Amino acid sequence: MNILVINAGSSSLKYQLLNPETQQVLAKGLCERIGIDGKFTYKPADKEPIKAADVAMPTHSEAIQAVLNALVDPDRGVISSMKEIDAVGHRVVHGGEKFASSVLITDEVMEAIQECNPLAPLHNPANIIGIQACQSLMPGTPMVAVFDTAFHQTMPPVAYTYALPYEYYTEDKVRRYGFHGTSHKYVTQRAAAMLGRPIEQLKLISCHLGNGSSITAVDGGKSVDTSMGFTPLAGLPMGTRCGDIDAGILEYLMHKHGWDIDQTLNILNKKSGVLGISGVSSDFRDLEAAAPQGNQRAQLALDSFCYSVKKYIGSYAAAMGGVDAIIFTAGVGENGPETRADSVSGLEYMGVKLDPEKNKVRGQEVDVATDDSKVRILVIPTNEELMIAADTAAIVKG
Ligand code: ADP
Repeated sequence: MNILVINAGSSSLKYQLLNPETQQVLAKGLCERIGIDGKFTYKPADKEPIKAADVAMPTHSEAIQAVLNALVDPDRGVISSMKEIDAVGHRVVHGGEKFASSVLITDEVMEAIQECNPLAPLHNPANIIGIQACQSLMPGTPMVAVFDTAFHQTMPPVAYTYALPYEYYTEDKVRRYGFHGTSHKYVTQRAAAMLGRPIEQLKLISCHLGNGSSITAVDGGKSVDTSMGFTPLAGLPMGTRCGDIDAGILEYLMHKHGWDIDQTLNILNKKSGVLGISGVSSDFRDLEAAAPQGNQRAQLALDSFCYSVKKYIGSYAAAMGGVDAIIFTAGVGENGPETRADSVSGLEYMGVKLDPEKNKVRGQEVDVATDDSKVRILVIPTNEELMIAADTAAIVKG
């Protein structure tokens, strides 16, 4: 079964054609600068790739048409006709409280996704445009929506309720939603497989540490708390996002500097996090290069990040009454041995013991805890496309 996975943004679109049963990726790539000049990248598994070619893409429709053309191209294609695409899985950022799992896209579902637009005004409208473009080019092919928020819909009210007047929840839908759900779901399922135990019996803490970062407590396979909140701005400090800060800071800085809310949010989203602290970069590789050269702010940024990860691990162990395994995934979690080590150092009292030799790993599924560690520490490369394809296949087979 071949599933086309589409992740549509406002001016870009990532795609992958894969078979979730064999986990084989037939082709993948990226359309960029949609609505501007259009750049097309295509990487088939064992044929000549196309890199950033000029392809006119006034809208998402031309972008998806370029993808389909490449997939069936006699020279570079990987399938002989579009009939070999059994279904399309669409990443959708926000499903609000309406979607607690992936769903076959119908007219009613499209309406419900649209109703979630105010909760993710930058992302959901682009996701919808991607779905509509596919629907018009591939009529009759089943489409499935896979939401970043769905996995977290199992959180109990005590975890998702903000201490604001309650009507802001009931009337305005202000609550913790959480994001990166597809990644947290994938790595926790892989963790259960690695440990050879049913997920229903496991208490897991999943640390998705990338450019955007979030940590999720997963008890018995269900998300019970997560660090991102109403928006992806909350929780850990990130590449450029501030994470949790005192809301009183907004009032203070806005008055002092005469900023409006857009300027302020731009600073919190784009100029803060480890970039803001270090003044060097949002990229952990740059910070890890600058810190040993004596750049103290780069070191402080790395230390603050790991300190925050450690506090979330401690608080989620408390929330679940224990933890069987801590998972590290995404760019930094998979490739940053020092970040992993610093994030769990001092947690030996909880039975968390990292093996420095085993921890020298990058981008592979490995248990990096010592043999006698009570809590396992797992490095697991995330694979959101595979999770989207697996969900899509399961729903289409029905
Ligand atoms: P996104 O949230 O954009 O999907 P990723 O999960 O790809 O981000 O993570 C990107 C981050 O991963 C980079 O900014 C970089 O800081 C970090 N990263 C990638 N490779 C390495 C590496 N080899 N060592 C340390 N950090 C790395």
